[in-house]
Amino acid sequence: MFMAIHFPLNQMISWTALNNNSSLSAHEGVSLGASAYEGVSLGAVRRRLDHFHQKVQKHIWSSGRQTAPRLCKLHANINISKTSVSDNYSQVHFQESSEKKATSPRLRASIVLPKDEDIVWPCADDNIPFWRKEFPTSQATSKARINVRQDSDIMHIVHVTAEMAPIAKVGGLGDVVTGLGRACLHRGHRVEVMLPFYECLQKEQINDLTLSDTYSSYHNGDWVSTRAYRGHVTGIPVILIEPANHFFKGQCVYGGSYNELEAYLFFSRACLELMQVTATQPDIIHVHEWQTSALSLLYWDMYHNLSVKKPRLILTIHNMEHYGECRQEQLNICGLDGSVYNTIEKALDDRTIGHNPERLSLLKGGIVYSNAVTTVSPTYVKETLCSGWLSNTLMQYREKYVGILNGIDTVLWDPATDVFLPAHFQAHETEGKRICKQYVQRGLGLDSNLMTMGKKITNKGSNSPLVVCITRLVAQKGLHLIRYAINRVAELGGKFILLGTAPDGRVQEEFEYLSNQCKESNNVRLLLTYSEELSHMLYAAADIVLVPSMYEPCGLAQMIGMRYGAVPIVRRTGGLADTVFDVDHDQSHANQPNGFVFEGIDEGSLNGALERAFQYYNEKPQLWMELISKLMQIDNSWEKSAGEYIDLYNSVRVR
Ligand code: ADP
Repeated sequence: MFMAIHFPLNQMISWTALNNNSSLSAHEGVSLGASAYEGVSLGAVRRRLDHFHQKVQKHIWSSGRQTAPRLCKLHANINISKTSVSDNYSQVHFQESSEKKATSPRLRASIVLPKDEDIVWPCADDNIPFWRKEFPTSQATSKARINVRQDSDIMHIVHVTAEMAPIAKVGGLGDVVTGLGRACLHRGHRVEVMLPFYECLQKEQINDLTLSDTYSSYHNGDWVSTRAYRGHVTGIPVILIEPANHFFKGQCVYGGSYNELEAYLFFSRACLELMQVTATQPDIIHVHEWQTSALSLLYWDMYHNLSVKKPRLILTIHNMEHYGECRQEQLNICGLDGSVYNTIEKALDDRTIGHNPERLSLLKGGIVYSNAVTTVSPTYVKETLCSGWLSNTLMQYREKYVGILNGIDTVLWDPATDVFLPAHFQAHETEGKRICKQYVQRGLGLDSNLMTMGKKITNKGSNSPLVVCITRLVAQKGLHLIRYAINRVAELGGKFILLGTAPDGRVQEEFEYLSNQCKESNNVRLLLTYSEELSHMLYAAADIVLVPSMYEPCGLAQMIGMRYGAVPIVRRTGGLADTVFDVDHDQSHANQPNGFVFEGIDEGSLNGALERAFQYYNEKPQLWMELISKLMQIDNSWEKSAGEYIDLYNSVRVR
């Protein structure tokens, strides 16, 4: 028995419909949640069918229906007999190897929207807000990227980091470690992530968690009993380091009631100590930010002289503002002689020369001691070579300093499959986005006059643009511009939602005050909390994502926003300048204008961009729809950037 499955080329698709009764009908589409190309292998097809199986299960879970068990079994018996490719479709013919009769579904690539009556519409006075209800677990673990180029020369890469999404994410660092890690893993490399075993880790997101090693690691004249646990997070092997002291206890990743500098010095050494006691010799140790920069010093001046000889060190700087201030005697705590590093060539913070005491910078030490240093966008490289106190050191090490643009994990961030969304969508099928907007606006008590689904919704009239801003509330992010936008968007007839938290209590209080002031507003909500789930829903609901940063090493919000069909309004700085090109002014990027960009740090500059965006939205709805469909197809995945990292790893590794 033959069946043909049509996959659209180069496009993520998700399964579409299940029959209302108890089985899949031959005429209802399903998709396999992945793209397909010529020459697709049997293994790849099986993986897709596995994926489909999970989709079906998810649907059963979410709809409460008992349905479609037969197709789920199909994948065991399928052989490919032929593949062919046309302009738009790859057609793969399958033959069942057994003569068993089975449903023969015609598979098509489209999103099926939930029926209006199937959506449980939230409202603002629900006891449990819509973003805090239970969601099915993301199947990202098993969503291996099919057709990803496999590298033949395999490396062992260990990331040592203070953050990892989703189990310990505060900002972009967590996203980057997971996204880059998964991208390298899918190219065939052996990747591990070493992370402190924070008390607040979201343990339910760690699979196969087991205690693997018990050992001791040095701290301040003692050897602290330490446990290493192993598990998997979104498919990536992780190693969690848990000292038997008070480090990493508390309800937050940062800001616990322990000395953070000492804790990360301990962690940096404990990671190397584990490699030493387990005789592990990765090709690359990839450290991130000041928190793990001391590992480079510890490696070259201590462990490399012991038995960990092979690794080479990469440091990625995600934000130059945090440089790891450290006094000499504090460095002694991890077993290094702090005085050795108190020179301008090593780790001395140039600005403190002649002060009492002079200070070290762990980040500077990391720059000096690592084999290569990266930061997260080419423009941020230029900016940091020209300004800031580390520019002298970076100039000195210019040869080993490169900018590699961050990507986003397009499996974890996928509006066609995102488990947090009430409806799915993709480029050219954006109806689900309208449902998300309506859902979020209703749930937050923002006046929603959108027409219900099934009817055509235009951008005219009551359908005002929704602007979202999802950010840490720190000066870097342009707090004064965010404050300005809150009112200005409403004046322009739009709606504004802020999702953010401020590490500084005074800023948090100020925004709480503003939030209370607009509690009754139909147009503004300020949500001063951290919620991964809500962030997904807001990106999906948004017409516009606002990123008005004073400086921005890379920025992920604009890339995630684009993937979810939200048009970015950004300040031209750092990675924002590398990823967003103005629809009116960036003629040099004729093929890729994708948002609204402003230069100045004043409110008038932002206002100009807001007004232009609103004008497009209100007066050129067709162009706007074309723009969002284009945005969603922009490739900001890790594919290209992971390749650049792998080239860099290869350039420093020892064979
Ligand atoms: P940074 O690393 O400087 O915080 P990025 O733009 O690189 O900024 O990354 C921010 C990441 O953190 C994005 O994934 C964004 O969605 C997320 N984020 C920021 N604030 C919140 C919040 N309050 N709730 C959920 N996610 C947030």
